[in-house]
Amino acid sequence: MSYLQLSNISKHFDEYVAVDNISLSVEKGEFISLLGPSGCGKTTTLQMVAGFLNPTAGSIVLDGKNITAMKPSERGLGIVFQKYALFPHMTVLENVAFGLEMRKVGKNERLQRAREALELVHLGLFIERYPRQLSGGQQQRVALARALVINPHLLLLDEPLSNLDAKLREDMQLELHDIQRRVGTTTIMVTHDQSEALAVSDRIAVMQSGRIEQIDKPFNVYEHPKSDFVSSFLGKTNTFEGRVSHGRLQVGGQHIAVDDLKLADSSNTRFALRPEKIRFCSDAPKISGKVSNRVFLGSQWIYEVQTPLGDFLIYESNNQKHDEIQEGETVGLSWDSQDMRLIAEEPASH
Ligand code: ADP
Ligand code: MG
Repeated sequence: MSYLQLSNISKHFDEYVAVDNISLSVEKGEFISLLGPSGCGKTTTLQMVAGFLNPTAGSIVLDGKNITAMKPSERGLGIVFQKYALFPHMTVLENVAFGLEMRKVGKNERLQRAREALELVHLGLFIERYPRQLSGGQQQRVALARALVINPHLLLLDEPLSNLDAKLREDMQLELHDIQRRVGTTTIMVTHDQSEALAVSDRIAVMQSGRIEQIDKPFNVYEHPKSDFVSSFLGKTNTFEGRVSHGRLQVGGQHIAVDDLKLADSSNTRFALRPEKIRFCSDAPKISGKVSNRVFLGSQWIYEVQTPLGDFLIYESNNQKHDEIQEGETVGLSWDSQDMRLIAEEPASH
């Protein structure tokens, strides 16, 4: 059995179903993210694991113990919220040691352990400061140290980095990943930020409307999304649909060879194609189109191209050595059929 097992968990607020029959297994030491748009039930799910909300149905088993009805304080969990609420009148060291005091750990031991936790988050030099003397990122690390110092069975993080500005958030993602790997604490993080989930997680549970749409490794949810929703929530994607017949995709009067995908004939098939999988080519393009927009982002160019399949977004690394492509230009586009992801299919009726 998995270290943490959520079985058929639901949460209703009166008539409203916030979490709808979720099951989730988490292995010991794993870092799982709950990823989805605002209101999809991420926080509600986390709060049920924490014990602040009671499930309407279902059970939660942690390390072989049914904790579904256990008080939050008995679960032994470390929790970090978006608003980290440090005690303003206590130093950093006192803030981190406080949880151990509550657990009746002796003074010397708790100061020692608090120092170690602060070393872990690279705040060893800041232990005598007060929260107001720290930057947002440093305060967030104190909150993390405070959660880790009790050696929790589980670390629960609810949008822990969303108060930080973009650059700091990226640095903290790497650091969070590194810290979690070093301490090995089983972690569940809630986030609406796909790049954050991709960067830190062992597996991502993509949620929509109170349900888990797909759960898999970051690479797989990105590369092999099971639905339109997962595909478009995890980064940009081009979608188009057509009819497959004799190894060719017929769409908008075009015929695109897709024989290497070995698709059955269909009345309607929907595909997703990531912008970075498309390349410009003059020889035997799959389709042609007109460049309607282009934006330079430093490491890459973003193009919008009007094609018979619809408007395509194309990312090209700033490492391509070809003549500059101008707005208004007609270009050929190609991609490997293998990079097309089938996301919905209706079999042809014969
Ligand atoms: P997320 O964290 O994914 O943004 P939440 O889990 O906070 O979403 O909320 C899921 C849904 O449940 C939302 O529509 C929210 O308005 C609703 N909800 C959350 N808490 C309560 C509550 N205490 N009473 C009524 N509705 C709630
Ligand atoms: Mg939330």
